[in-house]
Amino acid sequence: MSAKSSFVVALDVGGTSMKGGLVSESGAVLLSERRQTPREEGPEAVVTAVSGFISHLAASGDGTPAGVGLAVPGLVSENAAVYATNLGWRDVPATDFTTLDIPVMLGHDVRTGGLAESVLGAGRGLTDFLFLPIGTGIAGASIVRGEPYGGSSGWAGEIGHTPVFPDGEQCACGQFGCLETYASAASVGRRYSQRAGVEGVKAEQVVSSDDPIAIEVWDEAVEALSLALATYTLLLDPSLIVLGGGLAEAGPALFDPVRTRLVKRLAFRAAPPLVPAALGVDAGMLGAALLGWRAAGRPDLGPGWTVDVRSAPLVS
Ligand SMILES: [Zn+2]
Repeated sequence: MSAKSSFVVALDVGGTSMKGGLVSESGAVLLSERRQTPREEGPEAVVTAVSGFISHLAASGDGTPAGVGLAVPGLVSENAAVYATNLGWRDVPATDFTTLDIPVMLGHDVRTGGLAESVLGAGRGLTDFLFLPIGTGIAGASIVRGEPYGGSSGWAGEIGHTPVFPDGEQCACGQFGCLETYASAASVGRRYSQRAGVEGVKAEQVVSSDDPIAIEVWDEAVEALSLALATYTLLLDPSLIVLGGGLAEAGPALFDPVRTRLVKRLAFRAAPPLVPAALGVDAGMLGAALLGWRAAGRPDLGPGWTVDVRSAPLVS
């Protein structure tokens, strides 16, 4: 590692696209770029694509990067992508993701986003909170004592698969009555479409509709969420719940009824405030930048940064 290095390469690897960037020691996003994930070409092609993207980003910087941070899906350790069903990865060592001789640190995608919300976003300054992005699926990052908590084997945070309705609908995971089956953006659209006999309705249309079927489907989503959040609150005593992902764009239509029901469900303690995420789709990349600096031996960096990713030159 060069002492002159003043930036890291950060990459958020998703099932359909990868978001990369260069982030300086002071938190300036020097460059931000998006590429498709070549998932159909197989697990090795994705590793090669990640490596090529890292080299490309590194070459765009002034000098050698101090480190690389990668946010990846599935089961993850700092040193390996252990298991990712959607990308077909099994035990890919961190060093396989780059041909450059620089330190690499991996993080779980949602927990890395949670790390960014914790250090730079809605949870800044808090040690214990929940970051719950609601999109196609639902998975959370439990920030416990200042760090995203991975559990005994890396499966912590699968809040989307906690059963909320006993004997409820079967989830794609095989269980019954999972939160995700009722409250993910994809499920809200799907459940309305099935009941109304209309194809391809999106969650945002259901949220804003006066149609009795839409009201019923949305009510069940809100009920499922408030149940899961009450359980989480009682289990881990978060000081804040941060909702993100596409469904959080619904704003008060989501936050108001979930907040009301969460308050009603809790009898002997106060409900934590419910707020929207601050970093949006950039959370994963920014969290990866924090990991990159940790890999470079600078875990002190992050607090104090004022990030504005929209100011960075974007190539897409
Ligand atoms: Zn499930």
